[in-house]
Amino acid sequence: MEKLRNYIGGAFLEPSTGEYIDNYDPSTGEVYSLIPNSDDKDVEMAVEAAQKAFPLWSGMLAEERGNMIQKVADGIAARMDEFVAAESRDNGKPVSLARHVDIPRAVSNFSFFASAIKHFASESHYMEGVGFNYTTRKPIGIVGCISPWNLPLYLFTWKIAPALVSGNCVIAKPSEITPYTAYLLSDVCAKAGLPAGVLNIVHGLGQKAGEAMVVHPKVKAISFTGGTVTGEHIARTAAPMFKKLSLELGGKNPNIIFADCDFDKMLSTTMRSSFANQGQICLCGSRIFVERPIYEKFKEAFVAKTNALVVSNPTDEKAKMGAIVSKPHMEKVLSYIELAKEEGGIVLSGGTQVQMPAPYDKGYYLRPTIIENLPYTCRTNQEEIFGPVVTITPFDTEEEVLTMANSTKYGLSATVWTNHLQKAHRVADQLEAGIVWVNDWLVRDLRTPFGGVKASGVGREGGWEALRFFTEPKNIFIKQ
Ligand code: NDP
Repeated sequence: MEKLRNYIGGAFLEPSTGEYIDNYDPSTGEVYSLIPNSDDKDVEMAVEAAQKAFPLWSGMLAEERGNMIQKVADGIAARMDEFVAAESRDNGKPVSLARHVDIPRAVSNFSFFASAIKHFASESHYMEGVGFNYTTRKPIGIVGCISPWNLPLYLFTWKIAPALVSGNCVIAKPSEITPYTAYLLSDVCAKAGLPAGVLNIVHGLGQKAGEAMVVHPKVKAISFTGGTVTGEHIARTAAPMFKKLSLELGGKNPNIIFADCDFDKMLSTTMRSSFANQGQICLCGSRIFVERPIYEKFKEAFVAKTNALVVSNPTDEKAKMGAIVSKPHMEKVLSYIELAKEEGGIVLSGGTQVQMPAPYDKGYYLRPTIIENLPYTCRTNQEEIFGPVVTITPFDTEEEVLTMANSTKYGLSATVWTNHLQKAHRVADQLEAGIVWVNDWLVRDLRTPFGGVKASGVGREGGWEALRFFTEPKNIFIKQ
């Protein structure tokens, strides 16, 4: 069985514990590789390697670092098929999705920040007759990047790329559930000539390897994407050490559909925003609110399309949904469907596992699920399920839908469908969310601020926001 290795100080190393964790293929339920079960000793080695590399890496011109990171982007692009197959196998997502979204986006993350750092500038503030201030922006030092399993390489690189181009040395941990493309990335970095110790990838469990990164005094900043409960724990642990923190956490995003929208465009996009990546995207719209005049029309069309959606093994090019990432996660999603029924919900579509033919018969497949007849305050409508499960709810007024939309503890993203310009602005303005899409979903410009409000996180990623996070400003005053 293949054993993955940590990438520390430019070398491929076994975990100091000598222990490994099973890595499952969710499409078959079989173990197909082994992941290092790293602990604080591996993290310590990574910190030492990063410390050694820091003077060279931070001392390079931004342009040189950018050029090096572009080589990493090119290295992934050159091995596109290998990365696509690996991501799909590790996560259960359709190959077509990995090919069109995950891996191209990982390439873009590196090339975007490779270029962005060449355009990044610090500020100067002139005080007439007094003097002037100029602000320098230096790398922080050693930073930690921790990412989840839903968009494995996509989110891993979204953190690593800005951290590296800014001159930091990085210790990164992918989710232990989906480590494979991070492992391939270490090979790309080694072959691209990234200096040893600049990027260190430590595999293992969050509570062991991840925790060791968070508590290490020499790791000065943590960029974390994952669940709100984990985020809370990290914030509690890191805050007394005065670490810089960027937390991208959970969501329970509203999708608000007004009667005056472009119905066909809304319907096809709502299919994606509900069920893409098996509903396991933090930006998926899991609470769908539909203006009453089109509620029945929407319900009928949405249920028909959902019933026809192809759930299949990830290598099937016809698959619109593949496997859920893990057995525990599938069981969690199923338990929420049971909860919804207990809360009075009516399952209009799905609600069950899909029995696939061999060799996929032990895989983790769920039907896309639509539930109606639930109050907006119930647990099903308040807690993050993070699977292919949506609720639909009618509304009569803007005020009512805004109350429902803003009622959860989360505030990551929202979608609004209307052709009324002022209404679009009005509603977007009042939504408690870090990101609002009007008449589309998941359109991403990498320059824009990305992140949530309330329990969806602290800080923003993307563009200058990310480069600012990964640098420390210092203002210097010079008397005139
Ligand atoms: P988790 O919070 O369980 O894990 C995220 C990462 O943190 C994993 O690498 C995990 O390792 C690690 N981790 C767990 N415990 C600790 C710890 N004590 N110290 C340090 N690291 C730790 O999230 P999931 O992987 O289950 O991802 C799903 C969640 O991510 C959802 O809530 C989703 O909304 C959110 N998410 C948010 C996004 C955003 O941009 N706001 C984008 C995508 C997802 P391990 O896997 O080994 O436990």
